[in-house]
Amino acid sequence: MLPPEITLAGLPLRPGLAGQRPYGAPQFDVPVRLNVNENPYPPSAAIAQEMAEAVKRAAASVNRYPDREAVGLRSKLARYLGHGLLFDQVWAANGSNEVMVQILQAFGGPGRRLLTFTPTYSMYPEYARDTYTELVSVPRRADYSLDLPAAWEALELFQPSVVIIANPNNPTGSSAPLPVIERLVKAAPGIVVVDEAYQEFSRQSADTALKLLPKYGNLIVARTMSKAFAFAGGRVGYAAANQAIVEALRIVRLPYHLSAVTQAVAGVALDHAAEMLAQVDRLRQTRDETIARLRDLGCHVIDSDANFCLFGRFPDRHGVWQILLEQGVLVREVGPDGYLRVSTGSEQEMERFLWVLGRILGRDPAQAGRPDRSEGNR
Ligand SMILES: *Cc1c(COP(=O)(O)O)cnc(C)c1O
Repeated sequence: MLPPEITLAGLPLRPGLAGQRPYGAPQFDVPVRLNVNENPYPPSAAIAQEMAEAVKRAAASVNRYPDREAVGLRSKLARYLGHGLLFDQVWAANGSNEVMVQILQAFGGPGRRLLTFTPTYSMYPEYARDTYTELVSVPRRADYSLDLPAAWEALELFQPSVVIIANPNNPTGSSAPLPVIERLVKAAPGIVVVDEAYQEFSRQSADTALKLLPKYGNLIVARTMSKAFAFAGGRVGYAAANQAIVEALRIVRLPYHLSAVTQAVAGVALDHAAEMLAQVDRLRQTRDETIARLRDLGCHVIDSDANFCLFGRFPDRHGVWQILLEQGVLVREVGPDGYLRVSTGSEQEMERFLWVLGRILGRDPAQAGRPDRSEGNR
């Protein structure tokens, strides 16, 4: 035990960490959790059972280190992605967060820059901090689309070693069309990471940057099993890129970073990819209905290609967040001033969310639950 007088502030933390706090989306045990973009639908009992059996087999040899290269898992991920990819063009780690830190460990570092387009994912600044990479950002336009002239200028001025663009973007849900992404990849002097954590939810889900991989050796497409794949608890993210980039990531990864249990359970999920992804269409539909109904309630909502949406604007967003929480609904206080972000849950969860929000906004709750009466609501 540490002597009680030692506090965090008293520790010899390196300068960049003084005063910083750990990533902290609240994990409250409330009935309706809509704050971290999880898939609300758990695996079927049959798949859960198969996962348990895979864990049992892994446990029988848990005295041994796992396959350091996770070849079986990477082969399954390559097959899932398609586009002619092979296992040596795919990399996997404990969530795409770990993959992206590894990318910056390999391609960022002291004296180098990471370019992002704000507002965007709150973890990107942390990757930069943790890898001693300087963070530079280009603000998006008022509609959260990419400001291309500003992007060209920043590429020229900052010469970033790494560019990360979340597409669809978090927390806005907006996305850039593939030709815009291609222009960025073409113009960048270094590595471009297209973070497609929400690609499966996109209205143009076939327009993935995976299509650009054969043409561009500086492109990395990052994906995760946490969202559409309903595997957030399993912690598997992955990336597709040129084989040489994968070799670079192997240099910086810690040995045996993916546990035998993780590899086994993820393998089962991938064997049942169609079933694990089965709720994506339903979630897309629920998202679109939620957006329409939020607009009926008088909210401004940003069109979304992800499994969440940003809605507002509230003079006191924290107040709205707080009342929702008191009513058992947890959303995320994130993004531009006055906005809140809500993940797409089950239909019942969204009913509850919209009902409580309708009451907060002072509308008739029965009306708030009915999109087809929207005109009468205004
Ligand atoms: C959720 C999310 C991820 C994925 O996180 P994991 O570490 O794979 O769970 C990556 N990028 C963005 C923009 C996200 O919102």
